Amino acid sequence: MDVLIIEDQHDIAANVWDFLERRGHRVDHAADGASGLARALDGRFDVIVLDLGLPRMDGLELCRRLRQAGHGTPVLMLTARDTLDDKLKGFAEGADDYMVKPFELRELEARLQVLCRDRQANTPASQYGPLRFDAGSLLAWREGKRIPLNRTQGRLLEMLLQDAPRIVSHQRLAQGLWGDTPLDTARLHDHLYALRALIDKPFPTPLIHSVHGLGYRLLADDDA
Ligand code: CA
Repeated sequence: MDVLIIEDQHDIAANVWDFLERRGHRVDHAADGASGLARALDGRFDVIVLDLGLPRMDGLELCRRLRQAGHGTPVLMLTARDTLDDKLKGFAEGADDYMVKPFELRELEARLQVLCRDRQANTPASQYGPLRFDAGSLLAWREGKRIPLNRTQGRLLEMLLQDAPRIVSHQRLAQGLWGDTPLDTARLHDHLYALRALIDKPFPTPLIHSVHGLGYRLLADDDA
């Protein structure tokens, strides 16, 4: 794995670095938030270990900016405090996992490997017009706005993106979600309605279009 450690406590950073390098991983390190963000945006890392409390931009802000910039690299957050509030804040900003100090280095490595595997199992980010979607993190971006989706919405958007701007039939969308069950268009419309509320409603022009009796498509102004 290529691992970026963003941590200002020198002893922790050095321990993680030594351990991971001995285990055959490549490691890079930044000791404050601003240089950590620059390195994360610049480099190609499989996973990022991110301390929450950092000088020159804290971990939450760093994570938010990374996701805003469209980076889906998995992030494991480190913190000294084990509170639900901290975890929820971290997840809301796009962190994928969480460990409380002090932690076992072997457990850290195992969790990083899971994050990398999850990511490889997912399809890479796809894009159409002003819309970008990362299936790994279930995050969509439109005109700089970060839009977290649930699994069903993510799967729907993924199918629409794969064929954009072509129409994807009701049948195929339903099959992608629920397999070979009888077509339930009302249920499908409910999920599409929720997806459109997130992807289209905050913006002046809709991207998701219903094609009566057939299905749905993504269509940007440029292609209309
Ligand atoms: Ca710290």
